[in-house]
Amino acid sequence: MKKPIVAIVGRPNVGKSTLFNRIVGKRVAITQDDPGVTRDRLYQEAEWQNRYFSLVDTGGIEIDAKERFSKEIINQVELAIDTAEIILFVVDGRTGITPDDREIANLLRKSKKEIILVVNKIDNKKFEDNIYEFYELGIENIKSISAENSMGLGDLLDDIVEKFPVDLDVESDEDITKVAIIGKPNVGKSSLINRLLGEERMIVTDIAGTTRDSIDSKFKYNGEDYILVDTAGLRRKRAINEEVERFSVVRTLDAIDKSDICVLMIDAKEGVTEQDSKIIGYAHDQGKAMIISVNKWDLVEKDNKSYTNFEREIRNKLGFINYVPIIFMSVKNNLRVYKLFELIEQINNNYSMRISTGILNDIINDAILHNPPPTDKGERLKIFYITQVAVRPPKFIIYVNKSSLMHFSYIRYIENQIRENFHFTGVPLIFELRERG
Ligand code: GDP
Ligand code: GDP
Repeated sequence: MKKPIVAIVGRPNVGKSTLFNRIVGKRVAITQDDPGVTRDRLYQEAEWQNRYFSLVDTGGIEIDAKERFSKEIINQVELAIDTAEIILFVVDGRTGITPDDREIANLLRKSKKEIILVVNKIDNKKFEDNIYEFYELGIENIKSISAENSMGLGDLLDDIVEKFPVDLDVESDEDITKVAIIGKPNVGKSSLINRLLGEERMIVTDIAGTTRDSIDSKFKYNGEDYILVDTAGLRRKRAINEEVERFSVVRTLDAIDKSDICVLMIDAKEGVTEQDSKIIGYAHDQGKAMIISVNKWDLVEKDNKSYTNFEREIRNKLGFINYVPIIFMSVKNNLRVYKLFELIEQINNNYSMRISTGILNDIINDAILHNPPPTDKGERLKIFYITQVAVRPPKFIIYVNKSSLMHFSYIRYIENQIRENFHFTGVPLIFELRERG
């Protein structure tokens, strides 16, 4: 199911991030060594009345630090117009309209997007009348709220979800595997897509994509249907606005959300950048299957250790995410491009793999014998049994006597045992504990 994107725009200090945090609520809790710190502020999944959407705080996206402040805001608004279905334009109900507000309103009115003008800081009834002056901005749909005191948020959210596009095209596409090619600008994504889709054995149908300028492509490979998610508008490479493109990170996260399998392209000359690690961390957290494709392999001076060294370097940078396969290719020289599709097919199967509880427990019992579960103050963790409850991604529930006795390193151990016995290459595994008396 395609998740609509809701973007928050507005000049600084009007309360955008306060509103953002209120809407995403508890989900925003950042875990310890989470690589995606930026993403937590910028981009989060949110839910209201069982409707799911992605919320983007464009105010947290610094597009060009060198720019004047107001120019920077305009960049952010353009980014929102480009990527979001619904835009929340936040203004400060205490200070009234400023020139920046007017400029933002002008841009938004010209776009064909759904706009809600959110007058914030209406903390109590006596400020209610302040909202009238904002009608001058020419945006009809006005809501007053107090983000800080969580007032008016229910009405606002009702209004937001009501505006979600009715998804007419999901019925049949729902079950088709969606693949996204992601990576920094210039790594060769468009070249790869053009090459893949240009292959004779692929039957390609263009379908309207989810964002402006994007065309998703449906194709068949070995009898199986796939959809290539084109969130970044790669297929219609327009004269790219450099500034906005640099912030392709929002689009990348969106592409990850909409896909089952992400192919992260890396430039062989550059190696894994910090942004790449963050993106992989995000895909891992979202339970997506993944492949790393190192492109432009033709540009690397090679000896008999090149692969091993390069692979070691990537694995070091990715830390615990070591299940992701790496493929070295050159789109330009058509080197191993076909391999990528074999790999996608294989990983797609792994993603759907279901292991019977019987076999799973034979393996775990063996593992427990070799390496007994941890103890704490004389109390030993007991693992009763483990069962797989979901696929895409595979999810396992471990029934134990007391979850506080479990240690993450022991879960890692169990994960490794499962991986040694089954082909889960490219696929994250999710574990949950349940106590049983
Ligand atoms: P941003 O720069 O637009 O992201 O704004 P922030 O969310 O950081 O908020 C700017 C300031 O306005 C902070 O001091 C907030 O505490 C304050 N603020 C946010 N929402 C409200 C509100 O509903 N009422 C009042 N009185 N202050 C608010
Ligand atoms: P995108 O921004 O990720 O879509 O990247 P493009 O597909 O537009 O490629 C950027 C540049 O890299 C173009 O000039 C391509 O011709 C070049 N390129 C793509 N793949 C390769 C490759 O395998 N080897 C070399 N040497 N250049 C490549």
